[in-house]
Amino acid sequence: MPIFDLRCKECKQEYQVRASYEERQDAQCPSCSSTKKEPVFKANIKGPVSPKGTGAGGCPSAGGCPGASSFG
Ligand SMILES: [Zn+2]
Repeated sequence: MPIFDLRCKECKQEYQVRASYEERQDAQCPSCSSTKKEPVFKANIKGPVSPKGTGAGGCPSAGGCPGASSFG
């Protein structure tokens, strides 16, 4: 089952869903339950995407997150 990176259009929360392509359409934001969302293509994004808060997880290993200490 593929995992999709999505961003809520309502509250800008980024989240992942593990679902089929069709099921992805029904995925809800874990923060505000909105189903309005857009896909996140992290590989091509250079712009204003910055992690909101730190230590929220997402780094595969401790200390293995490049640039983690330079935000803020
Ligand atoms: Zn939301």
